[in-house]
Amino acid sequence: MPESIPTAIKAFAGEIVYPVALIGCSTSEMSLDCCEYDLAVFAGSQEHNQANQVVRVDNHPVELMHLTGPIKDHIIDLAGMVILKDNSKLMLSSAAKDIIAEKSKKVLATSGKKLLISSLFCQQKMRGTNHPTIAAMWLKIAAYEFIDGMLALSGNRPMPVHILEQVRQIDSKMAEGVDVALECIGAERATRPAISRSMAAIKELKSKDYDRELFISKVSHLLERRMLVDCYYYAGRVAAKNLANKKEIFYSQYSKLVQLALDLVNDLQSLEKMQKRLFRVVNRGLGR
Ligand SMILES: [Zn+2]
Repeated sequence: MPESIPTAIKAFAGEIVYPVALIGCSTSEMSLDCCEYDLAVFAGSQEHNQANQVVRVDNHPVELMHLTGPIKDHIIDLAGMVILKDNSKLMLSSAAKDIIAEKSKKVLATSGKKLLISSLFCQQKMRGTNHPTIAAMWLKIAAYEFIDGMLALSGNRPMPVHILEQVRQIDSKMAEGVDVALECIGAERATRPAISRSMAAIKELKSKDYDRELFISKVSHLLERRMLVDCYYYAGRVAAKNLANKKEIFYSQYSKLVQLALDLVNDLQSLEKMQKRLFRVVNRGLGR
């Protein structure tokens, strides 16, 4: 339970006509000043077209996330939620009783395995291309998927700004694989010039995203706090998630943008070496 939820946020949630719960890192101890309050809004099936959005409430950033479908589809997000408003059927209160730690661990483990398998797919895509930038991109995406997967397997829901902190806190048994992935990501290249070059490109990638400003403000906050590695990691992960969903043609058309956004080094030989090591740790994570 967080220390205190600002009164303005509670009042804001109270005015929403649907059940609302506080989720995300502000229900944990890791939340930073730049972190938004994530409000899950259950608008019901008729209103599923509601878009997510970021608003400011009494100078706090608030992200409204409209969740649809059965509650059991959102167990990972809702574990540890703070209910701010319920309906007359006490939908959230009874769901909260149902989302016991064990259940959410199980769902997390399943999602962890999926992420590791997705990491293997990305590595396959890397090996299937002759374009050095696109190959480097897939390796980096594969490494991010792996770390998210390992976190989930260890029972932690990945929280984008806090992933390195979360990784530092998990079992050291998993550390070897994480080191390999961090090498693929190039965390040692985290400098201000590298981050600002990437940022120019990521801003372009995210030009139509509703959470673009929130993303930019988090990056500047991490830079102010001199959390360079966390910042490099976070910005790269946002770029990786964004790029993973683009069409194949985008990568070759905008390869310069891809290269800048992910701060890629195009050395095929060393990429292949790193991929082999990542492949091994992913399989180990899958118990193979
Ligand atoms: Zn946060």
